[in-house]
Amino acid sequence: MLWSRAVSFVNAHVVTDSDVAESVRFSSRVLSLGDPPRGGDTVIDLQGAVVLPGLVNAHDHLELNHYGRIKFRERYQNASEWSQDVEPRLAGDQAIARARTHPLTERLFIGALKNLLAGVTMVAHHNPFYPELRRTIPIRVLRRYGWAHSFYLERRPSGAYGEPGGDVAGRWRATPPELPFFVHLAEGVDVEAHRELPRLEALGCVAPNTAIVHGVAIDGGEWPRIARRGAGLVWCPASNTFLFGRTAAVRDALDASNGSRARIALATDSRLTGSRDLLDELRAARAAATVTPDELLRMVTSDAAALLRQPRAGRTVVGAPADFVVIPPLGPTPAASLIRTTRKDVQLVMIDGRPLVGDPALAPVFKARGVTPRATTVDATPKLMDSALVRRIAGCPIAEPGVAVS
Ligand SMILES: [Zn+2]
Repeated sequence: MLWSRAVSFVNAHVVTDSDVAESVRFSSRVLSLGDPPRGGDTVIDLQGAVVLPGLVNAHDHLELNHYGRIKFRERYQNASEWSQDVEPRLAGDQAIARARTHPLTERLFIGALKNLLAGVTMVAHHNPFYPELRRTIPIRVLRRYGWAHSFYLERRPSGAYGEPGGDVAGRWRATPPELPFFVHLAEGVDVEAHRELPRLEALGCVAPNTAIVHGVAIDGGEWPRIARRGAGLVWCPASNTFLFGRTAAVRDALDASNGSRARIALATDSRLTGSRDLLDELRAARAAATVTPDELLRMVTSDAAALLRQPRAGRTVVGAPADFVVIPPLGPTPAASLIRTTRKDVQLVMIDGRPLVGDPALAPVFKARGVTPRATTVDATPKLMDSALVRRIAGCPIAEPGVAVS
């Protein structure tokens, strides 16, 4: 980084752990909340904009975001049915075959870019932590976690190199209890999907570090049992609705937490079945279940970070990395504003106090933080981006729809 200085955002709605502050000072870390600017700060009047912690997307397959949504039936009964239906057809599809030939680094980059443009600064990638994820990925990717794909892909290929999905119980046992363990479970609406929770319980794998991805077939009455075990849910309503016409009993899951902190995160899954990005997913979630904007905000910030065991992510506290997303005040509360925000509305995304994409009006933040901006457009809206990111986008053989760098 070049010479850089602290920034004060004033006249803002900064969402903190306990309330909403009017200002925040930061360099690479959050320096103070609610304090006036100090001499030497670059002072930015945000005109009432909302400053949220960088969003957390608790489930994606980063290399699968450039194919578009794929299905050949209106409704499936089980994700295994979708997988068996889609796999053989893809082998004969020229466009898909071409899209598969891009290097893994490039495919992963598009997945990271999808998340960044939607204000996501941390993502949980479901598959191995590929070495390619260490290179040229502009957002934080969860590094320490356990995973298995699902019961139905235990011995069948699931990863980018055809790695098997892994033995669920074996992988769970190999995961230290302080790390999260992710598994697709009960992803369907048939009897087979409904039997997966009892199967996971019988194996002794429902514990506080277990993150059940999907859980569509889990009955409302089963959630108190899961809550007692301390396990969590990664909820992907857009994907569920696309494949099955319904989603998890998330209201029951929330109510089952019985006053304690709900262990539920909202996530996109990949664009093979999911929404375009986490901002669109928030609207899919609103349409799919009775959840409040504040519950949804927690599901993409503090609760998601708790599920990922990332205590410094998903919250704005003094001393934590300055990972922010700034959005316009589109609703009466910060959470209501968030669920109305699309990626073209996002005013700024920062990681470690480093602006990566933002509105042209926020050019002084780039200057203050020593980042050289370049003009681009996102969904026909002018945006500045870090010039290194622009070079990366320009050099990527896969185009992200709606993003233009000249
Ligand atoms: Zn998934």
